[in-house]
Amino acid sequence: MGLAVENVSKSYGDLSVLKDLSLTLQKGEIVGFLGPNGAGKTTLMRILTGYLTDWEGRIYFDSEDLKSNPQAVQKKLGYLPENNPLYGDMYVKEYLSFVGGLYGKNKLPIENVAEKVGLQNHMSQKIHTLSKGYKQRVGLAAALLHDPELLILDEPTTGLDPNQLHDIRQLIIELGKEKTIFLSTHILSEVEALCDRVIIIKSGEIVLDTALKRLRAKEKQIVEVTFDYRVEITALERIKNAAHVKNIFDFKYEIEFDTPEDRRPLVFDFAHDNGLKILSLQHKSKNLEQLFNELTAS
Ligand code: ADP
Repeated sequence: MGLAVENVSKSYGDLSVLKDLSLTLQKGEIVGFLGPNGAGKTTLMRILTGYLTDWEGRIYFDSEDLKSNPQAVQKKLGYLPENNPLYGDMYVKEYLSFVGGLYGKNKLPIENVAEKVGLQNHMSQKIHTLSKGYKQRVGLAAALLHDPELLILDEPTTGLDPNQLHDIRQLIIELGKEKTIFLSTHILSEVEALCDRVIIIKSGEIVLDTALKRLRAKEKQIVEVTFDYRVEITALERIKNAAHVKNIFDFKYEIEFDTPEDRRPLVFDFAHDNGLKILSLQHKSKNLEQLFNELTAS
């Protein structure tokens, strides 16, 4: 068992935001929650954390019912809200003790949690002096203090620069080894990099709920590569399984392969054999992007 959401509906006045929505989260999964802006992602997350109480349906965590025993469920959940509101004037350690106090526990593993999220050398710093990536770490530490089983992360990487993005994603992968993670995002590549499963929501209804593995098995892959020099399209088309090659911009090419097998090593070999340097290389799943566009088009 894990979390079960059964037939949940929620309206704000006349606006129906969640419509008879059901999903389950199994222990140990990292699940990506995708949808266009306004689809209802934050609303569901706020319901799960007990912040919103006026809704219909049933939600359980193991055998605990959220409506009749919210505290029992809240103990098992950690929440990193969108925009991660923090008290900038507090020192990191002070803030974590303060949040710990809200859980009503006097002995909290603050140092352990700080180390887990890489904050151990920043404990005496004021929060407003930290970079956005480190502020996210403080938010994550706060969400982890009571050792929850499920972490709910609302757009955890929005606004991060590429280095911070990489670090926070690594951290989420690490945390996912011990915890169930439910994370909302509108970045498809993030779901591909982090998640075992994807749930897509549109106008308050689930339009896709599937394991990434199943998508990958069917997928055509696209490799986007930038070389340091111009390359003949016909030469790139000779790489094994290359089905279609497009020159996107200057020395940047998109190669579509008709196999789910990772063909990046062959692109490296191609560059090496032709005396080229690779300036960037990105792997994209055509299926997820296509599915998302098809399923969420209005
Ligand atoms: P998402 O997180 O997917 O962007 P939200 O759950 O934030 O979507 O919002 C879903 C819909 O509910 C949007 O149309 C939004 O404007 C509306 N909404 C969200 N919060 C409120 C609120 N407190 N009062 C009224 N409408 C709201």
